[in-house]
Amino acid sequence: MSVFEVVNPADESVVTTVEELEAEEVDAAVAKAQAAQRTWAALAPADRAGALRDFAAHVDAHVEELAALEVANAGHPIGQARWEAGNVRDVLTYYSAAPERLLGKQIPVAGGLDITFEEPMGVVGIITPWNFPMPILGWGLGPALAAGNAVLVKPAEWTPLTAMRIAELGAEAGLPAGLFQVLPGKGSVVGEALVDHPDVRKIVFTGSTETGTRVMARAAAHVKRVTLELGGKSANIVFADSDLEQAAASAPYGIFDNAGQDCCARSRILVQRSVYDRFMELFEPAVSGVAVGDPNDEGTEMGPLVSEAHREKVASYVPDDAPVAFRGTAPDGPGWWFPPTVLTPSRDDAVVREEVFGPVVAVLPFDDEADAITLANDSAYGLSGSIWTRDLSRAVRVSRAVEAGNLSVNSHSSVRYSTPFGGFKQSGIGRELGPDAPLQFTETKNVFLAIDSTESPS
Ligand code: ADP
Repeated sequence: MSVFEVVNPADESVVTTVEELEAEEVDAAVAKAQAAQRTWAALAPADRAGALRDFAAHVDAHVEELAALEVANAGHPIGQARWEAGNVRDVLTYYSAAPERLLGKQIPVAGGLDITFEEPMGVVGIITPWNFPMPILGWGLGPALAAGNAVLVKPAEWTPLTAMRIAELGAEAGLPAGLFQVLPGKGSVVGEALVDHPDVRKIVFTGSTETGTRVMARAAAHVKRVTLELGGKSANIVFADSDLEQAAASAPYGIFDNAGQDCCARSRILVQRSVYDRFMELFEPAVSGVAVGDPNDEGTEMGPLVSEAHREKVASYVPDDAPVAFRGTAPDGPGWWFPPTVLTPSRDDAVVREEVFGPVVAVLPFDDEADAITLANDSAYGLSGSIWTRDLSRAVRVSRAVEAGNLSVNSHSSVRYSTPFGGFKQSGIGRELGPDAPLQFTETKNVFLAIDSTESPS
């Protein structure tokens, strides 16, 4: 049994140590989950709904504790961390309605009665990343449990603490033992063991496109179902007819929230050439106004990067000769700080094409609507994006033309638990959240009952 240190990214102190599981231990967890799943799926739908509501209430009672844990583990600002814990509660509450609303169909056919059933898959594996440990866990957990499955979670190595605590809260709230287990360990060990296990029927993976591709290839060996939520290089498109003050004032939140460690980050700002200079004038004070510092301060808007290794990766995109337009501020250290950084690169630079996953944004001018659409779509990714304009027709035209799963007009909001979330192209497969998410965790079974149309003699 090996042990790894969980480190606070804001001051580099060791928060605690966590025992990593070995691959062999995954077998026992799956067997336990299978037994619990049979009990869970056999419950009356109203009882499963009640258990999810109890779980949500127990999370609600521990929002402050979970938020404090995430501040220490991931360096998230306290206000944001509270939102994240509350999001787990809200997602569980939202999907607590699902057990009683997973309706099959009755389909008109000749010679009988045809009915569909939405049956649970069994044991589902959720592999989570380190950027939003709590919400991303909840987005898989809520609908998977609601649909009658057991859930095994492999949290990211750097950020396992909130997932482990949420599993304890589930057990305390009365979920059957083993129904929801957290298995800390390495992606290459525990993650792969989940993907390879024949009795884990589905994998929900959120992380880099590189690792997601490997997960999908391994899952193919078992024709295992996958939902993948991967990288992004989203565009924030600012048209000359927009409310430029508002577009510039809000642009920092589109990229620097969570220190840019967000697959929805608007890491390319495309600005119509006729207002480019004015936008940059307005954007500069907005960037220097981002409050970067101690995550425990209520006023902090941006904390540190998650780890030293990640900080090095982000820094590699800003070499000494990088085209830096301006920067915000950041503490010196200890801690893995990186200031909000605004670049003006050319269209083909690596920083325009690759996901940096840090507080680094590329600003590029465009000529007209067609050029903006071409530029926005000139990416392997297609997760989210924003469109700033006062012209309703343009808002609709551009929204329909941009190849991305989640767009917002005059806003940077990407995620609401009641609406679908996921990407086009290399940003992923499948959709999380929204009313249909439980159907990503069911197998549809069709049953035909032959009916003898002649009356039998009594
Ligand atoms: P990063 O964003 O640091 O590049 P990854 O996308 O590699 O992270 O990791 C996201 C999640 O996937 C983490 O929980 C990680 O442990 C896990 N993981 C990494 N490699 C594998 C793998 N080969 N199989 C399954 N899971 C993995």
